[in-house]
Amino acid sequence: MLDAERHAVAEASRALAADGLVSATGGNVSVRRGELVAVTPTGARLGDLDAADVAVIDLDGVHRHGPLAATSERDLHLGAYRRHDVGAVVHSHAIAATAVACLLTELPVVHYEMLLLGGTVRVAPFAPFGSPELAGLVTDALDGRQAALLANHGLVAVGADLDAAVANTHRTEWFCELYLRAAGAAGPDGVRTLDAAQQDAVVAAAIARGYGATHAAPTPGESSR
Ligand SMILES: [Zn+2]
Repeated sequence: MLDAERHAVAEASRALAADGLVSATGGNVSVRRGELVAVTPTGARLGDLDAADVAVIDLDGVHRHGPLAATSERDLHLGAYRRHDVGAVVHSHAIAATAVACLLTELPVVHYEMLLLGGTVRVAPFAPFGSPELAGLVTDALDGRQAALLANHGLVAVGADLDAAVANTHRTEWFCELYLRAAGAAGPDGVRTLDAAQQDAVVAAAIARGYGATHAAPTPGESSR
């Protein structure tokens, strides 16, 4: 059942661990197909996770397949699927994101690429791990966004598929690292952020230029513009 998805979850988990974005058992990964979700098991070490250990649950949280119980954060994953129509969810305790989640209630737009994630990144208020309260707060914080921080806890990133959710995890961690470096070096004026007009201009430029996609090179001698 969901063999391809279970392999993909295990592979993404090992890659996230290799990249230092999840450590030991701090993080969980899931991908949805229809009414079913392949999700990392509770207590698993993601760095050496086997596909055979990935659990399959349904959107009501009922265990459907696999020898191990699903992550204790399954409500957080299911909340994102039920409300936001995403294809994959990655939760991690990446260090820069978790540091920012100890400082702010919302990460401002410090880099134009944040608009790819929907703009600012909200910080969901603190609630104990695995609780329905936390799942609800994070689901709210994801409204119109591809990522949210969890106060004094970590990060959740979503995407249309697993590659996108993993990429959004890397991006969010990079934006948080950027913020921390800028804030650490900031003078009395603090960190400069992009205002609404600048953000609108970025969105217009991205639409006009098909940002994020590759383009065929111009014929030699022709202008690339
Ligand atoms: Zn966590």
